Parts: sequence; C-alpha cells; structure tokens
Amino acid sequence: MTNRRRFLQSSLLMAAAASLPKARAASGPARAKVVSTWDFGVPANRAAWAVLESGGSALDAVEAGARWAETGQCNATVGRCGYPDRDGYVTLDASIMRGDGGCGAVAALEDIDHPISVARKVMEQTPHVLLVGAGARQFALAQGFTPRSLRTPEAEKAWREWLKTSAYKPEINIERRALPGNKENHDTIGMLALGADGRMAGACTTSGMAFKLRGRVGDSPIIGAGLYVDDAVGGATASGVGEEMLRNAASFLVVELMRQGHAPAEACRIAIERVVAKRPEASKTLQVCFLAMNLHGEVGAFALHRGFVYAVCDADRQDALLESPSVYASSQT
Ligand code: ASP
Repeated sequence: MTNRRRFLQSSLLMAAAASLPKARAASGPARAKVVSTWDFGVPANRAAWAVLESGGSALDAVEAGARWAETGQCNATVGRCGYPDRDGYVTLDASIMRGDGGCGAVAALEDIDHPISVARKVMEQTPHVLLVGAGARQFALAQGFTPRSLRTPEAEKAWREWLKTSAYKPEINIERRALPGNKENHDTIGMLALGADGRMAGACTTSGMAFKLRGRVGDSPIIGAGLYVDDAVGGATASGVGEEMLRNAASFLVVELMRQGHAPAEACRIAIERVVAKRPEASKTLQVCFLAMNLHGEVGAFALHRGFVYAVCDADRQDALLESPSVYASSQT
C-alpha cells in the first residue's frame, strides 16, 4: 500500500471515528452528568440526577429537572409563579431536545404549569416542532394536561406595582440574592444532561421577561437560540435577554464552535464576544449567559456580566454551584 493510500485510509478511519459519539464507546454510569443554569439548578439537577442514577435516559432526566423548576419552587422567572406580561397574563416558553435531533417546543403557553412536558409531547406526538399560544394550550388540553390559573398573588402584586410606572427594564442579576426585595425579573432554567449511554438531551423553560409585550416570545422555546443539542458534539443552552440569543442563533453557534474544536468554555466566550460585537452599547446593560457541555462531559460557561452561576451534578459532586466568567466585572458599567 502506498503511503498516500495508507494516509487516506487512516484519515477516513479517523473521520469515521470522529463522527461517532465518543462518550458512547466508553460509557458507564460514572460518565453521566447534568448541568443547569442558576442557583435553582442545584435542586433541579438533583431531580434529573435521580433519573440518570436509576438508569433513565438523558431525555427523561432533563424533563424531570425542568419539571422541578417549573413547580417545585415559586420563582418569578420560571413556571407556575412566573411574572406576567404587561397585560397581566402569565405566558410560558419551553423547549426540549435530544442529541439525535428530535425536538419540541411551546411558546406563549397559558394556564399549563408544565410547559416542558407539553414540549415533549409536541416532539413525540406531532409532526411539528413548535406550537404557540392558543393552539399550544388546546394541544396540551387534548393531551390531558389540567388547566389552572398561573398568576400567583405575589406575581399579581408585582404586576400591579409595575403598572405604576409601566417601564420595561430587564434587571441584570448581579448579586441578586443580596438585593433587598430581589429585583430579579428574568431568568430561565436551561439544563443539559449526558446519559450513561453517551446520549445527550437538553431542556429550557421560562416565563420569559417580566412585563414583556403580550405575544413576545424569547429564545428559550426556539431550537438553536435557547437550546441546541447534538450527540456528535455536545449541547448548549442560554439565559438572559432572549432577543440577543435570537439575533445570534446563539446555542447553535456555541455547539458549532465546539464542533470546530473549541472547549465548551471557549465556545461560550466566543459566542458572548459575538453578542458584544453586534450590539456593543446594548451589551453593557443586558445580561446574556451561555452554558455548554460537550460529549465528553466537559462543561463551560460565559456571561456578559458577573453574577451568572451554574449547577453541576455527577457521580463525584452532587450540588456544585460555579460562577461563570464574564466580559464585564460589574453590571453597573
Ligand atoms: N431568556 C429568557 C427570555 O428571554 C429570559 C432569561 O433567561 O433571563 O425569555
């Protein structure tokens, strides 16, 4: 065999090997991992980890974790207790994706407290990817979900207070837990899981930006913006002002950067730099955060502003909460 033929043959073998999900070849329960955005990611990860630990799939794990965030806490930015839009309606956005490309999503869904499970039904029971508004609600009811009012007394009070000024102002989350009265008015749980079999899945669920325009949809239910997962590479998810993720097809961008060979943290950093380059002035006053995990279970994050934390859970550490690096050291730039 000539040197050239030998070279071509080994290149092809390497290319074939590179296209295989490598984690799958060397998988085992020790490899499983789940990561998610923000501090509520810690208990949400635990719910997801219980599924992975008992041999469940990455898809089942992220659904369980997202469901915890939607109803296991009363949070102004995710699920049942989410703040309403400017007209007083609580509308929820969610997406779910498997690493083989299967995906489903709902946007501007009302009266249903587990949008992530409706998104999964869209993926599994329909030929579509995204259902919105009244149609999404109708589909959820047809699937047996029980409608309930999602506007809590706390959200009602916050909305009535907001009506006094009606000023739409996303709050950067820096040191939000220390803020008197916690001014937080947007966040999302984005979760990525790597199963023991090397397969990946992701989920993303939010009530979006508090006091948004009626009908506004953010990045979270848009595949490629708030969430993207590919078994051959890894996954990425986002939190922050969703318009920036939509402008940049952000989660897809992060995954494609990993496909080009960048480590997850590096991919998130480059994507954040893209956000800054596109809107340098706006980026000083808005938060954008990316979280990524590759198929080897390497995790990375990057944010525009300080204060983004993410939770990591695997066989070695159950409740890790890590601070992401950021472009700006302060939200008050
Ligand atoms: N990305 C969400 C949205 O724009 C909000 C957030 O995560 O802060 O709806």
